[in-house]
Amino acid sequence: MTGRVLVLGGTGEARRLADALVAEGVDVVSSLAGRVAKPVLPVGEVRIGGFGGAEGLATWLAENPVAAVVDATHPFAAGMTANAAAAADLTGVPLLRLQRAGWTAQPGDDWRWVDSLEAAAAAVASVGSVFLTTGRKGLGAFAGLTARCLVRSVDPPGPPLPARTVVVLARGPFTVAEELELMRRHEVEVLVTKDSGGSMTAAKLTAARELGLPVVLVRRPPVPPGIPTVATVDEALAWVAGRP
Ligand code: NAP
Repeated sequence: MTGRVLVLGGTGEARRLADALVAEGVDVVSSLAGRVAKPVLPVGEVRIGGFGGAEGLATWLAENPVAAVVDATHPFAAGMTANAAAAADLTGVPLLRLQRAGWTAQPGDDWRWVDSLEAAAAAVASVGSVFLTTGRKGLGAFAGLTARCLVRSVDPPGPPLPARTVVVLARGPFTVAEELELMRRHEVEVLVTKDSGGSMTAAKLTAARELGLPVVLVRRPPVPPGIPTVATVDEALAWVAGRP
């Protein structure tokens, strides 16, 4: 492909895709939401900040023509994914969803699946000590908890937070040994996480298994229908290469 590619990013896959496309000589612009104070930047051109909804993205695409868009945002960035689908519809620009596979339970895992952060909060309402790794944005759903809540995020979370919150600021990946130490030190009884998938943040699941702790997992939102979807950077590269 000779045209420009817009990569909707904020994930390791998006960075690796931009790296690989630039290495192949493809003109890439990566887009970040601007949520993280000091993001790890991909190579190539980067733009930061929202587009202003689906129509804003459609306008941006009209003003900044691209041959294709790859939505490589996080599996739980459902708003951006919906906007990308709607903007592709409005403009006719080809769109691919790159979304890593979800996690699969292994022998010894005690996983309880829920459909939302609110359902996760309800599932741990009577637990004494909870490790919340659901990201800063959704912490409001847990604000009513009276449990000790260990919260880990890249940047400091804002209110509302559970009353007895301990914040650990850290950016993954973490090793299993680090996760075991953290969970032991804070006497975690239940881990709450989203089905983000991938290896970057999977060590906590291994640690929970080793400690015999239950895990409450929030299911992913669905990808909008009709959008071609791949799970790996290599598949995304092949799709881009196959564009006229
Ligand atoms: P979201 O709820 O789906 O998106 C909300 C709004 O943020 C979008 O409507 C869009 O604003 C803007 N936005 C999101 N991603 C963008 C991008 N890559 N480039 C430009 N604007 C973007 O998104 P989110 O869950 O807050 O995630 C924000 C970013 O963090 C994403 O890039 C995502 O890949 C990354 N991330 C998310 C999670 C997670 O758990 N949700 C975890 C790790 C990384 P406008 O409507 O104004 O265009």
